[in-house]
Amino acid sequence: MKLLKTLSEMSGAPGREEHVRAFIQKEIKDHCDDINVDAMGNLICFKKGSSSNAKKVMIACHMDEIGFYVRSIDDDGFLRIHQLGGFDTRNLFARRVRIESNDGKFHIGNMNPAGKSVHLASAEDRKKIPMISDFAIDVGMTGEEAKKTFRPGDPITLVQDFIEMGDLATGKCMDNRVACWIGMRVLERVKTPKDDLYVVFTVQEEIGIRGATTSAFEIGPDIGIGIDVTLACDLPGSTKGDEITCLGGGAAIKIMDSSMVSDKKLVDEFVDIAEKNNIPFQFEILPFGGTDGAALQRVRSGARALTLSVPCRNVHTVTETIHKGDLEATVQLLEKFLA
Ligand SMILES: [Zn+2]
Repeated sequence: MKLLKTLSEMSGAPGREEHVRAFIQKEIKDHCDDINVDAMGNLICFKKGSSSNAKKVMIACHMDEIGFYVRSIDDDGFLRIHQLGGFDTRNLFARRVRIESNDGKFHIGNMNPAGKSVHLASAEDRKKIPMISDFAIDVGMTGEEAKKTFRPGDPITLVQDFIEMGDLATGKCMDNRVACWIGMRVLERVKTPKDDLYVVFTVQEEIGIRGATTSAFEIGPDIGIGIDVTLACDLPGSTKGDEITCLGGGAAIKIMDSSMVSDKKLVDEFVDIAEKNNIPFQFEILPFGGTDGAALQRVRSGARALTLSVPCRNVHTVTETIHKGDLEATVQLLEKFLA
């Protein structure tokens, strides 16, 4: 959990994954035969397979998190923002954020919708859902200071401590640092894969599966496995049968989402592995959303592909919550598959 805490609390807005990448690269360098960073910033970790007719297996774990860029700086010193990824603005009231200025320094700010405080808001005002353009970040600076410190494009991420709650772990960007965690564990634990293994820590997933698209083209995998979180709607107010997945139910083997249908033979193979080894698993059908797995499937003339998901409550908020057992189950499935 120490590793997941470190990963979770790092900043990595889409296009600005360099801190996450540097950390992962340092940690796993002794567990790979070759490491490359491509033009877009994907971290490609290679392990030679033992089989004489080795196929190429690519596992994609995105490093980026939903975040913002500074759009402009007010004369009064407030930062206006542009969003990268799918936020529900109702979750963005009174949030603490971290902004990285272009000299590499981190600054803390408070994010709120500009306008009336609750004390002054009318009943009508309170019903309105603000747009991202309504939010402003207070960095405690005058206009002159803020304009000297920041410039458009400086990345902004939400701040939240990672904590454990019993069997659960919660914090920001479990989406998708849990996949980074899984990818790192796979590289450590799978000493000699049967097939050539490429674990790719990808960039810019949250804004259109961009890094997985280019890295998959470079590698040309025979088999592609995307790793991501999925919705666990096992919370008060949701109906039984509509949870998508539930926490503690094991690794989720994705049947489909709106971007891909997993390869049927791969689904069967993973189910078989899970049953033979008593690894807890559940099926996932997600009506909305897509992941890196879709890019792996559509690479060049196509690859066999599947996505494994870690069930997660409150996705795309700072209270993303996962079950430690589901993490472990996902790593075990991959270990057995790659062996
Ligand atoms: Zn994700």
